[in-house]
Amino acid sequence: MEPAPFAALIKACRFAAHKHRDQRRKSVAATPYVNHPIEVAETLAQVAGVADLEVLQAALLHDTLEDTETEAAELEAEFGPRVRRLVEEVSDDKALPKQERKRLEVEHAPHLSPGARLIKLADKTCNVRDLGSAPPAGWSTERLREYVAWARRVVAGCRGLAPALEQCFDQVAEQVLASLPGDAI
Ligand code: NDP
Ligand code: ZN
Repeated sequence: MEPAPFAALIKACRFAAHKHRDQRRKSVAATPYVNHPIEVAETLAQVAGVADLEVLQAALLHDTLEDTETEAAELEAEFGPRVRRLVEEVSDDKALPKQERKRLEVEHAPHLSPGARLIKLADKTCNVRDLGSAPPAGWSTERLREYVAWARRVVAGCRGLAPALEQCFDQVAEQVLASLPGDAI
């Protein structure tokens, strides 16, 4: 790879780290939020073999619109129109109530572009893995189980592009459910 793509990828990493600088994950350890988008991008590259620079940049930036004060136009100015569109595709409409957002995420998944479906799949894989290793503080078993069930519905709409990552999601989801008290998969 030429130097330019490396620089572009690292720029997205720095941008995300800056935007998420005051945020922490919901886990008890409250790890820096940016660890999550970095893990999503790494999962895409490593497990799904994604080598599309803009998809990897969008993975690093995937929670900036939803969770920070970043504007879509800013993403376009810094990273171009395709990265902006990909991040917009994987972002909820924050004006809607949470329950409706979660319903729409399931409904919209099959209609997203291939790049956006890959990012969703990696995002859900990382989030469900986190539920097993570093769950959000205070979540009941029932709530953890509901999240995995919902993530499975989103992932159902993202299949057909990355079999290895889909299999990884399935394994992680099964492992997390099996680890919950009193669960029958
Ligand atoms: P979310 O579903 O929004 O929280 C999960 C999200 O938090 C993930 O998708 C992930 O999103 C992010 N996240 C941050 N840290 C972690 C971590 N350590 N592990 C996994 N994910 C993490 O939960 P909300 O609190 O917003 O509630 C959502 C819904 O749950 C509501 O609709 C509400 O009605 C329902 N609910 C259910 C309860 C129950 O007991 N059944 C109780 C309360 C609410 P990202 O990738 O964006 O970081
Ligand atoms: Zn995410």
